[in-house]
Amino acid sequence: MIPQYASALLISDLHLTPSMPLTAQRFFDFCEKDASQVEAIFILGDLFEYWIGDDASAHSPFQQEVKRALANLSAKTKTYYIHGNRDFLVGPAFLKKTGMTPLSDPSLVELAGQKYLLSHGDALCTADVGYQIFRSLTRKPWLQKGFLCLPLAWRRSVANHLRGNSHAQYQRNARASYQKNEIKTNVTQEACAAILRSHSGDKLIHGHTHLPAHHQEQLGEQSWQRWVLSDWDLDHPEGARPRASALMINAQGVRAIDLIKS
Ligand code: MN
Repeated sequence: MIPQYASALLISDLHLTPSMPLTAQRFFDFCEKDASQVEAIFILGDLFEYWIGDDASAHSPFQQEVKRALANLSAKTKTYYIHGNRDFLVGPAFLKKTGMTPLSDPSLVELAGQKYLLSHGDALCTADVGYQIFRSLTRKPWLQKGFLCLPLAWRRSVANHLRGNSHAQYQRNARASYQKNEIKTNVTQEACAAILRSHSGDKLIHGHTHLPAHHQEQLGEQSWQRWVLSDWDLDHPEGARPRASALMINAQGVRAIDLIKS
């Protein structure tokens, strides 16, 4: 039985961290106010900038605050969670305390009478072969178990190293051909077509790429609609537009809600 709701709000890529207090505050307000308009909330990954283990969150006042906001949210509104590439180590202990229901990536849901396939989106970026190898390695249970046994300080330094690497890689890519970089960091039509085929779906919603849009796409005989969620950033407005939005699905259809104006 797939989850079925008459209305829902979907968000992703908030990358919550204590160094982005305005973004975090908008999320706390979202949990308290916006969420009550709908029957269900779907968080499609990268809620946190990084996650090095549920035990580490006990030492972080910020993560404790987020935990309380999520617990209050899911006490009022059914809340689902799909792991992202930044927070794939969010574990059963944290999920239980927040009352969120984990969903596998991808998952089929029925919202306002239509079926949608939900995914974080990183697994669809199949042009980035190096990343897909890294992804399949970091999702191995034995490697995750080993990592979570390391002392906290070691885990923190591994996470910082990986985040530094991905930033350096991003800058290198940005300097290289723009078009090539865009292809590598985006989902491929082939991956979207395959994932939709295997779930008999024709509507896909994902985040990860930070390229919010609604696409009508086709590959051979197969056609589908694809919605991409926006990332959130209210703390680094210089050079970039402040961003915080959600996708609302109800009887009126699918629409992006700007959470800065509302
Ligand atoms: Mn991501």
